[in-house]
Amino acid sequence: MTDTHQKTGGETMRFEAEVGRLLDIVANALYSEREIFLRELISNAADACDRLRYDALSDETLLEGNSDFAIQLSFNKEAKTLTIADSGSGMSRDELIGNLGTIARSGTSRFMEKLSGDAKKDTNLIGQFGVGFYSAYMVADWVSVESRRAGEKIGHRWESDGKGEFTIAEIERFARGTTITLHLKDDALEFLEEMRIKHIVSTYSNHIPFPIKLESMKSVGEGDEAKDELSIDQINDGSAIWTKNKSDVTEEQYKEFYHHVSHAYDDPWSTLHFRAEGMIEYSGLIYIPTMRPFDLFNPERMSKLKLYVKRVFITDECDDLLPKHLRFLRGVVDSEDLPLNISREMLQNNPILSKIRAGITKKVMGELEKRAESDTESYNEFWANFGMVLKEGLYEVGNDHQQLLKISRFHSTENDTLVSLSDYVARMKEGQDAIYYIAGEDKDALSRSPQLEGFKAKGVEVLYMTDPVDEFWLPSIGEFDGKQFKSVTRAGSDLSEIKAAPNAEDKTEDKKEAADEDAMGSFIKAVKEALGDTVADVKSTDRLTSSAVCLVADENGMDMNLERLLKQHKQLEQASARIMEVNPTHSLIKSMANAVKGGADITDASLLLLDQARILEGETLPDPTGFAYRMSKFMEKGL
Ligand code: ADP
Ligand code: MG
Repeated sequence: MTDTHQKTGGETMRFEAEVGRLLDIVANALYSEREIFLRELISNAADACDRLRYDALSDETLLEGNSDFAIQLSFNKEAKTLTIADSGSGMSRDELIGNLGTIARSGTSRFMEKLSGDAKKDTNLIGQFGVGFYSAYMVADWVSVESRRAGEKIGHRWESDGKGEFTIAEIERFARGTTITLHLKDDALEFLEEMRIKHIVSTYSNHIPFPIKLESMKSVGEGDEAKDELSIDQINDGSAIWTKNKSDVTEEQYKEFYHHVSHAYDDPWSTLHFRAEGMIEYSGLIYIPTMRPFDLFNPERMSKLKLYVKRVFITDECDDLLPKHLRFLRGVVDSEDLPLNISREMLQNNPILSKIRAGITKKVMGELEKRAESDTESYNEFWANFGMVLKEGLYEVGNDHQQLLKISRFHSTENDTLVSLSDYVARMKEGQDAIYYIAGEDKDALSRSPQLEGFKAKGVEVLYMTDPVDEFWLPSIGEFDGKQFKSVTRAGSDLSEIKAAPNAEDKTEDKKEAADEDAMGSFIKAVKEALGDTVADVKSTDRLTSSAVCLVADENGMDMNLERLLKQHKQLEQASARIMEVNPTHSLIKSMANAVKGGADITDASLLLLDQARILEGETLPDPTGFAYRMSKFMEKGL
């Protein structure tokens, strides 16, 4: 520590271990865009102003007679300090310790999750995510935070050189809010230049909806009369960007506001700026992110859209503002109709809010439909990120399921790109009346499933359903465009009705001859006897071309993949018995049928056949020892 900032007493505490690690990375970051520290500190100041303005709606005394919200920057070249002061909520002693000494907060924990251990990569991440308050240590070797929480009498000073410890002490402080003073490192003195500060603010913080002011000395008067005088100028736009006309906002400005409002640093994939007038009035500036927000799969599935009422921030935890499956949206909605003094509780089941939700949903779905049509490649990237979330909307009531299906995309046996259901339906073969799918974890493994053979041979497209969520909506949705969804791993898909495509590699035409019906009949009877209760049934099938056997579920039963999932999660004790289907054209089946004719016992062979089908399903064998024993017996004979 240098002599400009001696310890001022108070209690000394250690940072949480993870914070220490983070501070090491930050302090040593040789990062060209260190200027983002200012963006982070101003963003925190703005959040604090928003918070107090909201709290004051229900308790006006918190304002202490001063309803001005502003963020003020000042610098001192001699002392090498840069100061950021706000008239926001301020922090109590506990809040200073908790908020600035631990990592349990959004921005920073997201950063920590991404750390790779590679110094260069991690430094780049700082620019992408920001590390919130700690980014101050990229440019400062010592930081002091003086704060008084609105409504409290005593203020506190938190200070630290960012090397493992911080101190906290009581102070007298008149102004509510927070003043952060950075003692700049010698290689960061550029941030004491007025021009530089102005430039950073206009780049990153122009549309913060509070005035950002800069204190500087200006010379006034002329000749002998000239003297330096303190001047305070607003250096940002400071008006709410969503209240402006679209034509008055540039793409850069939209982007800058997105970074502020989303706490994310990708570029928006789509920006929707609109005003609804009529029965209810509201304006919205809503963004679809390019990258997945880090908390997308949190179990609470909370909406993060910020709700404002007449330009006053109300909450960013309003669950009724968006359907769950649109929770990846970021941005602002500002209502003219909701009362300003609305409490967060009163927002539940509010009729105005549900109208707004319907309006936003319509807007966003319209945009997605449009982009899906006009901008396929980019839409497919969007889908890869957010499709899983959108599909959650397919099993929740109150959503337009058919519209969601329309914008849904799937992998299929047809080609490597994503396909839409309309594409699928348009390609359906003559005689085909269902949309066929196969569900499982992994597309490549699925593509080798024996159940697909017959479909491939006839050129019938099959969709791969590889997201766990698929198992939930498929049973409840039933159909698209009047066509039923059918799993190929279920009995009852009658392929004989479907005409083969002329160009399909149709093996059904030059089909190897099947075993005769009589022989098949007694063969199937013998297999059933051998397997007993372990299978629900044994049937001859035309869905196989090269494999001898496969397992399918009962037509009305649960899909096999769903059963597997439920078993994995211990929701289901025992998977139900499968139907074993056999390929009457396969030489193994034919020779087994012949063996039965000749009076041979096929018990062992039947058991092996079943185990083989299980292995193809990726299932574990219930009796591996028995399998190995029978297998070696047959190998002995064969050799
Ligand atoms: P984040 O903003 O993502 O929560 P930060 O590291 O930027 O993470 O800030 C940590 C926390 O410290 C904030 O959530 C806030 O509670 C508190 N904080 C930071 N700066 C201020 C401020 N100027 N006024 C009040 N609280 C603040
Ligand atoms: Mg922050």
